[in-house]
Amino acid sequence: MNILLFGPPGAGKGTQAKLICKKFSLDHVSTGDILRNEILRGSKLGVTAKQIIDSGHLVSDEIIIDIIKIRLAEIKKNNKNFLLDGFPRSINQANLLSSIMEELEIILNAAILIDVEQPVLINRIINRKNTEGREDDSEEVLASRLKVYYDQTAPLIQFYKDLNLLKWVNGVGEISDINQQINSIMEQL
Ligand code: AMP
Repeated sequence: MNILLFGPPGAGKGTQAKLICKKFSLDHVSTGDILRNEILRGSKLGVTAKQIIDSGHLVSDEIIIDIIKIRLAEIKKNNKNFLLDGFPRSINQANLLSSIMEELEIILNAAILIDVEQPVLINRIINRKNTEGREDDSEEVLASRLKVYYDQTAPLIQFYKDLNLLKWVNGVGEISDINQQINSIMEQL
């Protein structure tokens, strides 16, 4: 079973992704984590990505697609399944994902939207800034990340609805309740 998780910044994708991957033995592919790792390593890619991430914008499709191609090919080679977290983030990336998967002869079973309204997101992110210290969690950068989400990522809702892959989850509430909603979706796939 291969799935993707998407939703606005602060929806709890990372937290839920870890729980689902553990329960269903999926490889967790988080493009945000991969980029943050590159930044920590001080690689050339990390240096380029840092400026963009800190401004709340998206890094280029070329960079992201190279990362995804390598990871998915590796996962397929190991006969594993995956959960994508933070990718795709635009219609263009979704189309690129479809072609990569077609080439690798693997299919996507569901696109799960963790839905949270804006005022809740703002509070959560401010809290996360205090606990995790992510630089892109500041209020100024958040405004730009939210705009990017609504302009570029939210159109994926219709995209995956049209493909009959969209599953909707209410992302407001206890972590365990949200996890339960996702588990039951997974069990029905
Ligand atoms: P995340 O941890 O998923 O919130 O990602 C943190 C930041 O990494 C984003 O605000 C983007 O700058 C960058 N990023 C992560 N995934 C992608 C992607 N699929 N496309 C472009 N930029 C991304």
